[in-house]
Order: sequence, then C-alpha cells, then structure tokens
Amino acid sequence: MSKKIVAIDMDDTICHLIPKAISYHNAQYDQPQLAMEHITSFNLHGIWHPQCTEDVFFGRPGLYEELDIFDEHTVEEIRKMMTDYDVIVITAARPSSVPEKWKWMQQHLPFIPYDNFFVAKRKYLVDFDLLIDDGPHNVIAAREAGKQTILIPRPWNAHIQKDYVLKDSWDGMYELVGELLSEKPDGRE
Ligand SMILES: [Mg+2]
Repeated sequence: MSKKIVAIDMDDTICHLIPKAISYHNAQYDQPQLAMEHITSFNLHGIWHPQCTEDVFFGRPGLYEELDIFDEHTVEEIRKMMTDYDVIVITAARPSSVPEKWKWMQQHLPFIPYDNFFVAKRKYLVDFDLLIDDGPHNVIAAREAGKQTILIPRPWNAHIQKDYVLKDSWDGMYELVGELLSEKPDGRE
C-alpha cells in the first residue's frame, strides 16, 4: 500500500510570512502601524497604508528567503513524518517568489526533495489525505473534498477555528497527524 500523503502549507505554517511582511510595512510607512491582530482576513486593502499594494507587501525581493522557521519543533516533526508518509510542501507562491522559497526549503528542510515541492494555488486539486494549513479557504476546500485537516490558528482564520482541529505549535504534530489519519476521513463510511 502506498503511503498516505500529508500536504503542508508553507507561509505561516512552516515559516512566518505575515509577521515579517508587517515589519517591512511598518518600517516603510509611519501609519498605520500594523499588528498581527489587525490581519483578520487575506484581504488587506483598507488595512495597510493607502500606497501599499500586493507587490509591495508580498513581493519584496528576498522576503521569502529570510523568513523564520515556525518553531523549534518544525524540522524534527516533519522529518519524522517523512518516514511514515509521503510529505509534500504545497504553497500558493507568487511565481517570482518560487526560487526564493525553494532556496529557503533547501536551507531549512534539505531532506525534502523537489519532487515533493508543489506550487499550487488551487490546493484542493491535489490528492492528499491530510492538509496542514493556516488558510481558511484551503482547509474548508480540503474538508469538502473529504480530507483531514489541521488548522494553524491565526487571526485571519478565527471565524472557522471552532470547527477545525487546531495546532499552534509543531510540538506533537507528527502524533496528531497519526491520530487523524488512523480515523476515517470526514463524511466517509
Ligand atoms: Mg499559509
């Protein structure tokens, strides 16, 4: 039997994108000074400075190479998962950021081969068994497709947190994945 596929998002799941993007925004513009709790959706228009754009906020050259790893457990928990599961990293990357993201992966998770590095915005088209992600649209679509999910709780997914399995640290993530994958997927007999 082939291994089950565990799909792991990158930004704000394996590494911290929004805090770094906020810090650059706040250095560039005096007002408003953004904080994590202000980011209650992925639509940042009206929240960031009037001159800020998607390209300014998310497209800064080099941004994706300098992101911090999520926490001190991330690497080891993913490494453990690699022995039992087919682990893929799946990111809705801006095309210009893909080389930066791959460099980051090689630096922090060099044991993940590029066969397992998926760039996809419509993640629900990929046939994984379980998704670890902070994006509400991604976990909702995954559940609708009958997959297991783990939601990384963040201000922008507060509205769905009560309905999902949450994990705010990578400590114990391998064990939680094992528990969920030993259950039957949502909605299936
Ligand atoms: Mg994400």
